[in-house]
Amino acid sequence: MPQHLQDLSNERGLVFNIERFCVHDGPGIRTIVFLKGCMLSCKWCANPEGIGKTPQMAFLPEICIGCGHCAEVCSEKATFRTSDGMISVNAQRCAHCGSCVAVCPSGARLMYGTSMSVGEVFEEVCKDLPFYRRSQGGVTVSGGEPLAQKSFTYSLLKYCSLHNVHTAVETCGYASWGTVSYAFEFADLILFDFKHIHPLKHLKFTGVNNQQILENLKRLDAEGRALIIRVPVIPGFNATIGEMEAMASFAAKLKNPHTCHLLPYHPLGNSKYSRFGRKPVFQPDDELSREQMQEFLAIWESHGIKSQIGG
Ligand code: SF4
Ligand code: SF4
Repeated sequence: MPQHLQDLSNERGLVFNIERFCVHDGPGIRTIVFLKGCMLSCKWCANPEGIGKTPQMAFLPEICIGCGHCAEVCSEKATFRTSDGMISVNAQRCAHCGSCVAVCPSGARLMYGTSMSVGEVFEEVCKDLPFYRRSQGGVTVSGGEPLAQKSFTYSLLKYCSLHNVHTAVETCGYASWGTVSYAFEFADLILFDFKHIHPLKHLKFTGVNNQQILENLKRLDAEGRALIIRVPVIPGFNATIGEMEAMASFAAKLKNPHTCHLLPYHPLGNSKYSRFGRKPVFQPDDELSREQMQEFLAIWESHGIKSQIGG
């Protein structure tokens, strides 16, 4: 293998999942590579296992058989048996050593975050190459947030691209322009999250201001990059006619036409929070009805933006 490919192949990143045969998150049949780490902390996050930048141990009490092997091997005393005989975890003490995962017979312990090289990820990707070719699919790098591991994202996208695999990224867009343009240089398609138009509301619900994000969206558009605008539609955050109007109006002023995907909120990720000893922070009173989503769709389309519900 030529040296430049070898160098790309050796780059290492922290991956918490690889999903094959996906039909969302880009065209055709795709493999989604989920990277650890995110700069935002969206209150509705459906992938809390992707937020932290380091490996994380998760406990699934519903399938624990109570054997106690985990407590025996835990040198940090993060796992222990309570006075009523139950197994419990103190997440603050956990050193993420993985010892309990190795001895658990029921799969009640999981470690999110495995160090992998670009070459190793590409080996997984190669298993589905015939499907990509037939369906115009490829690889989507997601997270967490791909920008949180900019060198790995750059190398993985470039390596796939040099092997003629279609590449996409799914991003919140929160980083300096230098980081965005470097990390996504070899992305054929950018699925760009547009969460809210107002800086303070964005800050309140995601932990960061949206100024840099909107600047990056405008610059990617100005460079003529292939973009899909993705709007998570969240009750209590942006799911109103006024907010959709303001966002669609902003998107309509971009230089190039882009498709918009409206992604309705779902609470499916909430069950994952307890695996980390946390409670979900976001539990809206109402879920979105089909009629509401149709109304929002009509707003986006009235601004001349080709739009759909779902990704
Ligand atoms: S990962 Fe290590 S420190 Fe954390 S609970 Fe398991 S054995 Fe203990
Ligand atoms: S090792 Fe696994 S099954 Fe056994 S007590 Fe610990 S979490 Fe439960």
